[in-house]
Amino acid sequence: MLEKVVIANRGEIALRILRACKELDIKTVAVHSTADRDLMHVRLADESVCIGPNPSVDSYLNVPALISACEVTDATAIHPGYGFLAENADFAEQVEKSGFTFIGPSAKVIRIMGDKVAAIQAMKKAGVPTVPGSDGPLTEDNDRTLIIAKRIGYPVIIKASAGGGGRGMRVVHSEDALINSIYVTQAESKAAFGDDTVYLEKFLQNPRHVEIQVLADNLGNAIHLGDRDCSLQRRHQKVLEEAPAPQIPQEVRDRVAKSCTDACKQIGYSGAGTFEFLYEDDEFFFIEMNTRVQVEHPVTEMISGVDIVKEQLRVAANLPLSFKQEDVIFRGHSFECRINAEDSKTFMPCPGTVTHFHPPGGFGVRVDSHLYSGYKVPPYYDSLIAKIITYGKDREAALTRMRNALDELVIEGISTNIPLQRDLVRDSEFRKGGTNIHYLESKLDM
Ligand code: ADP
Repeated sequence: MLEKVVIANRGEIALRILRACKELDIKTVAVHSTADRDLMHVRLADESVCIGPNPSVDSYLNVPALISACEVTDATAIHPGYGFLAENADFAEQVEKSGFTFIGPSAKVIRIMGDKVAAIQAMKKAGVPTVPGSDGPLTEDNDRTLIIAKRIGYPVIIKASAGGGGRGMRVVHSEDALINSIYVTQAESKAAFGDDTVYLEKFLQNPRHVEIQVLADNLGNAIHLGDRDCSLQRRHQKVLEEAPAPQIPQEVRDRVAKSCTDACKQIGYSGAGTFEFLYEDDEFFFIEMNTRVQVEHPVTEMISGVDIVKEQLRVAANLPLSFKQEDVIFRGHSFECRINAEDSKTFMPCPGTVTHFHPPGGFGVRVDSHLYSGYKVPPYYDSLIAKIITYGKDREAALTRMRNALDELVIEGISTNIPLQRDLVRDSEFRKGGTNIHYLESKLDM
């Protein structure tokens, strides 16, 4: 097993990783910015190192400081969590070159998946269903581009190969606007990502966001842990997730999951990963792969009984996955509500001191959070402060539990989106299941 792990992250995910390490008897090193010295996991870790001042660029994104934290503590591996450097191939490479284990796939695989054109091509080759599109970058030949768009059918979406975080995309509804929109997207992409490669995809009008969780080891084994529905989003940020995704024919579900594990084997994937799809009219269309643990991983853990972070640690130690596909049995249903320190109506971040925190509890309720009464939410980072996760024997039971859990939850001193979450779990359309990616924004507009 790994001996000592540097947790290169903060907040709830740092605590989540620390818990997994403790269960596996791995020593932990918390690294933190000056503002974060009072974080819960910093108190619980075996050692802690301050890696820099408050801005992320000087601390959680500071590669030399992270590497030297490994050196001074004699750690053997780094867990990047999500966000920050988790999907940065250069960082993964630097960690390995410095003689430490990066807990995640190889830098080579991260690099391919970070380049959307390369990722889609790798997926097509592996038999994963993709969105009908240009099958590669657009060239300067505008006549060819117009033919491709006509074949795909309008509306189309122009996407930057290097894009991410919902940026570098433009929807075009008619031929007249196409070429000009391509120029604009190329210029924006060049400015934002230093690369002007763009491609075309069919713009799906009312899809759902459904993703498949996978785990693979360095011995050629790859398994999936089923699907999650993350369609409730605002500005491409997920708000509430569930597993399994409701109302998908079993045969369609099984087929796409199998294509994902096949792809893992073909690309030499290792560790935890997520294949993100748009789902419309009983069909899956790959959009991108996340090469890290995701915020919403607990809903999958609840229905599969598999601890995803512990498996990540095992894989990094070159151990085999602790089970085979046939050992994974899905039971029941799970929801996760993300609780953010933000105004429930304006969505403006609301940092400040939590004067009182009372988490919900009881059978089938899980709270992943670093909060405690007196904790000061700093203004420098992501506003996620807690994840409320519920489990039930079916969707209705898990949702009832979530309504009760949200009613029990008390966070005082700062504004949060709890009122929005309480409203969502009572929403009649959401209760039916299967709402699409536009549903939340259209509801908020009303
Ligand atoms: P990013 O890497 O920036 O997150 P994605 O490719 O994952 O970009 O797309 C982000 C979001 O944009 C999707 O979740 C979906 O809402 C929308 N989107 C992307 N591609 C399409 C498409 N072909 N049709 C409709 N919506 C799309």
